[in-house]
Amino acid sequence: MAVDLHIHSTASDGTQTPEEIVREARRIGLAGIAIADHDELGGSAEAALHAERIGLRLIPAVEISTDYEDVEVHILGYWIDPQDVRLGERLRTIREGRLQRAQQILDRLAELGVTNVGIDDVLREAGGGSVGRPHVAAALVRAGVTGHRQEAFKRYLGKTAPAYVPRVRPTTLEAIDIVREAGGCPVVAHPGLVPRRPRLIEQMADYGVEGVEVYHPKHSPRQIALLLERVQAAGLLVTGGSDSHGPGGTEPVSIGAGSAPEACLEGLDQWRRQHPR
Ligand code: AMP
Ligand code: FE
Ligand code: FE
Ligand code: ZN
Repeated sequence: MAVDLHIHSTASDGTQTPEEIVREARRIGLAGIAIADHDELGGSAEAALHAERIGLRLIPAVEISTDYEDVEVHILGYWIDPQDVRLGERLRTIREGRLQRAQQILDRLAELGVTNVGIDDVLREAGGGSVGRPHVAAALVRAGVTGHRQEAFKRYLGKTAPAYVPRVRPTTLEAIDIVREAGGCPVVAHPGLVPRRPRLIEQMADYGVEGVEVYHPKHSPRQIALLLERVQAAGLLVTGGSDSHGPGGTEPVSIGAGSAPEACLEGLDQWRRQHPR
């Protein structure tokens, strides 16, 4: 059986609710899942209730965007304690930064002549969760400024587009520390999407990362084979997931994509047994 240890819900920029994700995971026969929303624990916590009801394995998780040298690296935190007060506070601070940045993007858009989208429209798209560029894109589509979300990224929000504003992010080391202090297992997300850094895996291991997301739909079979070799040689855990943001988003990817084997879940279970709280 397969697992999917990297799914986004409506608590961040995914389009499926935690309950829908749990139901879909059961329908396609996954052995276990993790909802790893951007800087937000609410989706994972809610899914835990639904997963328990139907007997689906679920590992609590979060995904934190970080600055590593001059590139962006995402850190996944598995087994974090969702009740950890300090973790909750640190993630809230990061989410406040997201909100300020959304306002800055709107300011840029206004300079570009787009004045019919306000922060309330963006917040409505986010539905109370972690605010990201996909929500600004959805607000632009709803206001008729662009035809679809992909166009919104292309014309305004993408990294090289005129309304792009980077987020203030913690450093990779800080995020690893945040995960550790909450009793979690830090894992580097989709290293294949990080602009080429030849010793990335080894440097992350030096930073104290405990695993690497090897299985991911955007990793080629060749990348996966090479990563498996390096990750196992470094004595790190192998994890994987679809990074699904649900249907109807900018880049639809199904839950279960990436075909991470059940051994990924077993590896995290073993880590948990070796690191009791
Ligand atoms: P943020 O964390 O607010 O910077 O938003 C990042 C999210 O925006 C990613 O997780 C994707 O869901 C989405 N995204 C980023 N770049 C693009 C793009 N060029 N086209 C479509 N979606 C994108
Ligand atoms: Fe996202
Ligand atoms: Fe990511
Ligand atoms: Zn993700």
